[in-house]
Amino acid sequence: MSSAKPTILVTGGAGYIGSHAVLALKRAGYDVVILDNLVYGHQDLVEKVLQVELVVGDITDRNLLDKVFKIHKIAAVMHFAAYAYVGESIQNPGKYYSNNVVGTLTLLQAMVAASIKKIVFSSTCATYGLVETIPIREEEPQNPINPYGATKLMVEQILSDFDKAHQLRSVCFRYFNAAGADPSGLLGEDHTPETHLIPLILLTALGKREAISMFGTNYPTPDGTCIRDYIHVNDLATAHVLGLEYLLKNDNSDVFNLGSSNGFSVKEVIETAKAVTHKDIKVVECDRRPGDPPCLVGSSEKARNILGWNPQYPSLEDIISHAWQWHRQRHK
Ligand code: UDP
Repeated sequence: MSSAKPTILVTGGAGYIGSHAVLALKRAGYDVVILDNLVYGHQDLVEKVLQVELVVGDITDRNLLDKVFKIHKIAAVMHFAAYAYVGESIQNPGKYYSNNVVGTLTLLQAMVAASIKKIVFSSTCATYGLVETIPIREEEPQNPINPYGATKLMVEQILSDFDKAHQLRSVCFRYFNAAGADPSGLLGEDHTPETHLIPLILLTALGKREAISMFGTNYPTPDGTCIRDYIHVNDLATAHVLGLEYLLKNDNSDVFNLGSSNGFSVKEVIETAKAVTHKDIKVVECDRRPGDPPCLVGSSEKARNILGWNPQYPSLEDIISHAWQWHRQRHK
């Protein structure tokens, strides 16, 4: 079937942020092909909800990539496929460098060979590490304090070199903390293992876990717990569509933070979740988790000014309510 808008390859499209981006692309009228190795992605979600073509395979598989680019007329790639557990990256860095760096390099080389010259890349605020100035702007020096952040920074550097050498244009999004779920209730966050704060709090509220561990209460922050900038996953997805359209219209690369300039401490997130769920949530104070900077809050003035990004769900209450709706429904 011919379509008015081009076809986009979404790597990691069966995962949390990728699946929300696929939905946003479909809603904007794009054709989508997903490439996902299903290590963390969900096949049933692609089949039942997203209903786009799924290629099961790995970004490290050059033959497969060549085949996909031969069969499909891909205009651009959205690249979400990556391992993203900070703790695991400290214990098993090789796994992260192989997949996130070598895998991405394989993807980029296959793109160059197939003359596909546009990519939207999921980078992260974890590339900044310990920062001086809050909210963080894109010019802030990047000194990641864990291998996960280092892998993403390396890819940013590779993309900058590929831009110069091969005119492969990229939009890198350094996201802050993705959270929430599509308000339709069709999609949400479903990681195994789950390590993220908001889903773990909600699983505790549902009685699936006994307590939420508060990792570190002696950070140099007003209440002693870490501060993060939580962004609704649908707002991230919308930014990806805007980033894609920017690449399709322009012939240059750029980097954007996707944050809200608004940080919440772990304690504040727990209090908001109690108010949203009307449940008493048991909290256990624990030691710090290795690799966690005390405060990550991002300015996204640049994405607003250049891409016209205008987040629809800036409130933490909305983010937690949508996530709560998804979790309650899944555990009915
Ligand atoms: N966190 C916590 N208990 C948990 C999981 C996370 O206190 O069970 C804290 C974590 O230390 C960090 C914040 O919540 O300060 C957000 O962590 P998450 O893993 O959700 O995202 P990250 O910031 O690591 O990307």
